[in-house]
Formats: sequence, C-alpha cells, structure tokens
Amino acid sequence: MSEEIIGNIHSIETCGTVDGPGLRFVAFLQGCPLRCVYCHNPDTWDVNHNIKTFTADGLMKEIVKYKSFIKNGGITFSGGEPCLQANFVREVFKLAKDEGLHTALDTSGAVINENVKDVLEYTDLVLLDIKSINPEKFKYIASIKIDKTLKFLEYLREKEIKTWIRHVLVPGITDNEKDLEELSSFIEKYDNIERIDILPFHKHGEHKWEALGMTSPIADTQPPSSDSVKKAKIIMKKSGKVVR
Ligand code: SF4
Repeated sequence: MSEEIIGNIHSIETCGTVDGPGLRFVAFLQGCPLRCVYCHNPDTWDVNHNIKTFTADGLMKEIVKYKSFIKNGGITFSGGEPCLQANFVREVFKLAKDEGLHTALDTSGAVINENVKDVLEYTDLVLLDIKSINPEKFKYIASIKIDKTLKFLEYLREKEIKTWIRHVLVPGITDNEKDLEELSSFIEKYDNIERIDILPFHKHGEHKWEALGMTSPIADTQPPSSDSVKKAKIIMKKSGKVVR
C-alpha cells in the first residue's frame, strides 16, 4: 500500500487523445497559482473548489480498469497545475510504473521544488506550457514571471527528460512573428525537447468564467485563423523539432 495522500481532482478523461502519445487516462487536478487570461479551466484555480478526492491507490484502481485501452498510451496529470499536488502525483506515477504505464505531466513549470523533482523521477514525458518567450507578455498572460518555467525547463534538460512544448496561439498576443522566431531559436537549443504543439486559442471555457462571475481580459478575442496557425507552425519548424 502507498501512503495515504489525498488528491483533489477536478475531472477525469478516461481515453484522452491530446495530452501525450496514444490513448491516455487524463486526470485534471485542482489548484493553480497562475491566472492565465485564456484559461479554459478557471474552475480548477481553487484547490478546494468542487473536488472529487482520491487516494493514490483509489485512483490507480480506476486507471487499471482502462489498462487494455491505455497500455500503448499511458496516464497524464494535467490541471490546474498538477505540481501543486506533487506528492499525490508522485505516488500515482510510482504505481503506474509498477503497472508498466507511460507517465506524462502537463505543467506550466511554475512550481519547481524538491517534491516536484521527486515526481520527475517517475515521469516519462513533460508537456511544458511556454506561454510566451517575451517576459512582458508572459507576465500579462499568466500573472507571474517567466523565470520559474525557464528554470523548470533547465532542470528537464539536466535530467534529460523528454519534453513537448505547448504554446497557445492568441491573436494579438502570442502570434507576433518576432516572438515566435525567438521561441523557435530558443527551443532549438534543447536536445530534450522533441516536439512543439501549437494550440489555437479557443473560447470553450468562456461559460466557466461567466459561471464564476468573472470576465476574461481577452473575452473579445477570437480564435486565430488557420493561416495564422499555419504560419506559426512554419516558424516553429525552424527549430528542427516535430511541430503539431
Ligand atoms: S496554467 Fe493552465 S490551469 Fe493554470 S491558469 Fe494557466 S491555463 Fe489555467
């Protein structure tokens, strides 16, 4: 039996296809220290809001029910910010490794401490969200500085942990050609980065902001055009990485 650490979970997707390779069991954890202007899960911000609780063993019992589907994919912890519940994630990842399952951590990189470093010992792939390589824009988007995300990436390089970069393309904020060129050259230097996902901004989470009595500062922004997404991907390909 693993020690009784309780995880606060927002929701579960049993056969996810977008948060890492293959079919995956994805657990979205409560709690996030960031306040991204384009967040589509603002109901995850408060670690105690609307939660389902699981022990690590309890969640693993759920996960193994889907083992035949996810055996060539794996499990992903997303959020919110899963590193806020690092001890819980570590316990589940340990159990996942015993089951021979691939583990992925979808993170902003904003929390980097000894507990998170322990999680990374059991992590096969990190999906790291770089909101902008431009420090002012990063701060505008996320309400915190870029420093910890860069430190997190440095640690991933040091430990040679496979990493996919995620970048949300928001018209008027992150689709600036100069910033994209800079991000592409920056990424090129990291051998542990395998792939870049360009994620077009969408408005699917708008109703959640409204339900929480909030308005996103970019509520009037529309999703990017397919041309703009294509252009961003062309720039990212200059890094020599796989771009999706
Ligand atoms: S890091 Fe993710 S969950 Fe947290 S505010 Fe940003 S988009 Fe939302």
